[in-house]
Amino acid sequence: MFDLKNKTALVSGGSRGIGKHIALALLAEGANVLVGSRSEEELHAFVREAGSPALAGRALDVRDRASVREFVQFGLSRWGQIDILVNCAGVNYRVPAEDYPEEQWLNVIDINLNGAYRMCQEVGRHMIERRSGSIVNITSMMSHVTTPNQSAYAASKAALAQYTKLLAVEWGKYNIRVNGVSPGYIVTEMSKDVLLQPDFQQRIVDKTPQNRLGSPGEIADAVVFLASGRATFINGHVLAVDGGFLAGHPSIYVNPKPEA
Ligand code: NAP
Repeated sequence: MFDLKNKTALVSGGSRGIGKHIALALLAEGANVLVGSRSEEELHAFVREAGSPALAGRALDVRDRASVREFVQFGLSRWGQIDILVNCAGVNYRVPAEDYPEEQWLNVIDINLNGAYRMCQEVGRHMIERRSGSIVNITSMMSHVTTPNQSAYAASKAALAQYTKLLAVEWGKYNIRVNGVSPGYIVTEMSKDVLLQPDFQQRIVDKTPQNRLGSPGEIADAVVFLASGRATFINGHVLAVDGGFLAGHPSIYVNPKPEA
């Protein structure tokens, strides 16, 4: 449907969770895909399991400029061009703001925000030369609203949404589109400790008009659309894929029973 044949996509944080589903969805549309994360073991397991010559994995630590450069060069030497970049690498750390350790604050910002900046810059230079490209940054509900105990995460994701718009404004003239996708609540390695707590999950579900959590595949579909030639005039948009969570007032929304 989206026809990504002869396109090459790089996905940071593509070894598991949402990033892995994004990689699979890009692959299913015919793209060549390079996934990166710190755990080489997880990357190799994914590549083996997918069994496609169009999928490759390479170690990547988005906190390290040299690692980002090496990752981008690997993609370029393998496929000659990069058409799509998805910045999905991310971490969270949850403690009250007054106790938030500086080391954790810096690490969360360095991965979620600075990491996307490094990736966008290294890939962006190549896209500027080619006058073509599409970047999708994985933002969050926390780019739009906040909930307690994740101050660095909220700050990083709000900044990432704004950086996304800034790049769209600067790079539109080079025929590079930059958009964001803000996933609603999805059970993954990162979120399972909180989302698998029955009360917390129930509260999220109650505040979601569709009355359920999302799946990683639903996020991946939105990313593929934005990355594809079906979205050629969508630029600087941060799309919530959240079952309507943001459309209701988070503090008061409960699914009402219809009147009899
Ligand atoms: P996940 O399963 O924990 O995946 C995170 C991915 O990021 C892994 O591949 C991880 O691999 C990689 N990563 C972490 N630090 C990295 C680094 N320094 N360099 C390169 N890769 C790194 O979590 P997820 O839920 O799928 O999260 C994916 C993205 O979605 C994140 O940006 C997250 O903020 C966002 N998101 C998730 C939800 C949700 O409900 N799950 C909601 C909104 C937004 P390694 O640890 O091996 O490096």
